[in-house]
Amino acid sequence: MRRADLHLHTLHSDGTYTPGELVSEAVRHGLSMVALTDHDTVAGCAEVAAEAERAGIGFITGTEVTVEWGGRELHVLGYLVDAGHPGLARALESAQAIRQDRIREMVARLKERSVPIELENVFAVSQCRAPGRPHLARALVAAGVCGSLDEAFERYLKKDRPGWVPKAKMPAAEAIDLIHAAGGLAVLAHPGLNHDDGIVRQLAALGIDGVECFHPKHGPSASRRYQAMAGELGLLVTGGSDCHGRRGNRPTMGTVTIPVSLVEALVERCRQRGGRNAANHA
Ligand code: AMP
Ligand code: ZN
Ligand code: FE
Ligand code: FE
Repeated sequence: MRRADLHLHTLHSDGTYTPGELVSEAVRHGLSMVALTDHDTVAGCAEVAAEAERAGIGFITGTEVTVEWGGRELHVLGYLVDAGHPGLARALESAQAIRQDRIREMVARLKERSVPIELENVFAVSQCRAPGRPHLARALVAAGVCGSLDEAFERYLKKDRPGWVPKAKMPAAEAIDLIHAAGGLAVLAHPGLNHDDGIVRQLAALGIDGVECFHPKHGPSASRRYQAMAGELGLLVTGGSDCHGRRGNRPTMGTVTIPVSLVEALVERCRQRGGRNAANHA
């Protein structure tokens, strides 16, 4: 069966692969189709699309938008969006500025605590418009402050730790409307990480189109439960590895895949909505 991975990151956010490396890995794992879902950006989509075309595999555009719902952070995947949509570009730029300011604030807090970390070193590690805590963690490891990324999160970067700073986020309803305005479909990412299945129903009422049933953090019973909810609510089913590239022993590409038929259903739903989609079916 032809397989797809619809949740992948590159160094345009907090992944480590270049677009070319991402596609090479996808080919190595025998994937027929990939989506790029970098956090709060579509910057890598054109490059991954070109690499995928060269490699003879399918590609759909995507982004993983950080949103707020009921006071908590959720991730909404925007698939088949027009990467050049002006409203989407403005919203993502604003989210990126928030991420950059947050890194400045986090470094300032760490320095107040005499942690030897320099902002320029963090930005030298991130080199993208959508920096995140993993970049700060890598800089802390590179500076010898922490022995591992996990230690950096545990000691400094997790919620309520000394370096932690909350992040302003787009309301969930706004993100869903924006993804629709950009011709795409909105999918609730990794609902299992939210520890509240009621959110799936609530977001369905807000107009979400799908739910990411298959994810490394979902065991078989969680995947079945979300598939059942998707069926009941008329939502599309997606999934992917959430691969961030080389990151110690964390799950990487190939660990979670879905049949290409689910991607075809996604593209078909987008067409029915009249979305201009950027799918390429190799
Ligand atoms: P941010 O978007 O800046 O809030 O950072 C969130 C990212 O940090 C997500 O992509 C997670 O995969 C990653 N992350 C969260 N906790 C950990 C951890 N303990 N170790 C490594 N990465 C983590
Ligand atoms: Zn990430
Ligand atoms: Fe996520
Ligand atoms: Fe992700």
